[in-house]
Amino acid sequence: MALILDGKKIAGEVRRAVAEEALTLKDGRGITPGLAVILVGDNPASQIYVRGKESACAKAGFLSRAFSLSAAATESELLAIIGGLNRDPAIHGILVQLPLPRHLRPDILIEAIDPAKDVDGLHPFNTGRLFTGNPYHTACTPSGVIELLDRYGIDMAGKDAVIVGRSNLVGKPLALMLLARNATVTMCHTKTHNLSAVTVRADILVAAAGSPGMVTGAMVKEGAVVIDVGMNRRDDGSVVGDVAFSEVARKASYITPVPGGVGPMTIAMLLRNTLNAAQRIAG
Ligand code: NAP
Repeated sequence: MALILDGKKIAGEVRRAVAEEALTLKDGRGITPGLAVILVGDNPASQIYVRGKESACAKAGFLSRAFSLSAAATESELLAIIGGLNRDPAIHGILVQLPLPRHLRPDILIEAIDPAKDVDGLHPFNTGRLFTGNPYHTACTPSGVIELLDRYGIDMAGKDAVIVGRSNLVGKPLALMLLARNATVTMCHTKTHNLSAVTVRADILVAAAGSPGMVTGAMVKEGAVVIDVGMNRRDDGSVVGDVAFSEVARKASYITPVPGGVGPMTIAMLLRNTLNAAQRIAG
């Protein structure tokens, strides 16, 4: 039976360390890390995520500012808010909560954020630096996956790592991070032929597809490390992952639960990125 990779516990440790460093920064330099979150529309899941981020900021001793705009907000309104936050010395991190209503172009808005304040790590400057192996801010969810593997002493070097999902938010940056750790990386997507023939070779299998329970026991190698990034909301409000947990846990050596796996790590890494941004400004 697989050991649980306890994201909730590890995220708690990261958050405590971040809170201590934030206090040192405040006492030593008079700087309080500040995060601004921009939410557009009334997507219930996004509202929950934004509240979670605000509460995490408060617990870490950060300043947090939330901007909640109606679904009809225009790109120029958002660009004006982002411009103001770029110039605001109290704000070290800015994020635009995704997904956005269809009339807004995420690329335009993300590229308007000062890369030094792009704590989601999605600005092309930051993704480019990840590409060249010299990361500045890296995307929070994949960073959380790497942190979790590190904290459990799971070596990535030389391992066959397979990622199901190639989004800019998760799959692609995670592929670069695993490559930087000397894993042999394969990325899968909806056009991959015979998916299970690929996944069953994985020493480290990451599911980031947004498809409930799609990774079954038959798709997993005995002893694999299985990371479930999926967060799929059911009608009753509960959240399930992309991995059929109980059957996969019987074959895997380690597995992340949902909830309580990668999700809490994402918020912890957001705080870490915001602290890093504030520390960088402090010199
Ligand atoms: P996304 O942008 O929708 O991308 C999904 C990716 O998975 C796409 O590349 C898609 O392939 C691939 N895919 C979907 N179904 C597949 C299938 N049956 N077989 C093979 N590939 C498949 O999603 P995302 O933003 O990366 O998020 C993925 C999941 O992670 C979601 O459940 C999301 O809620 C969750 N998530 C969790 C966190 C967290 O903090 N835990 C953070 C972010 C996202 P194509 O490219 O071919 O379409």
